[in-house]
Amino acid sequence: MDDCLFCKISKKEVPAEIVFENDDLVIFPDINPKAPRHYLIVPKKHIDGVQGAAESDVLILGKMILAAKEQARQIGIKGYKLIFNVGRGGGQIIDHIHLHLLGFSQ
Ligand code: AMP
Ligand code: ZN
Repeated sequence: MDDCLFCKISKKEVPAEIVFENDDLVIFPDINPKAPRHYLIVPKKHIDGVQGAAESDVLILGKMILAAKEQARQIGIKGYKLIFNVGRGGGQIIDHIHLHLLGFSQ
């Protein structure tokens, strides 16, 4: 965890263009976007991924989805994809849970 990039971004130890922050999570654009609008919803709590989430994480998981919905509303996209990559086989490269918000309309 000491060496976790997304922990460092959420603590402002590594810069990112944070567009939203509250006590639970931060949102910033993906550095290598796979859609015209691509944001990452990242909880401040370190959880390895969906594979590491527990019953006690249910609230933060729900908050991530609602924060993504609000971010999509803020930027005015009408439809979008929400994606969790889970494990190396699922394309996960950062071992700190994050929800991808992918918007294909401008
Ligand atoms: P995943 O493959 O689900 O683990 O997604 C990790 C995402 O983090 C990738 O889409 C990367 O482009 C993105 N990423 C890696 N480093 C940074 C960074 N410093 N700032 C923003 N996004 C990043
Ligand atoms: Zn972390």
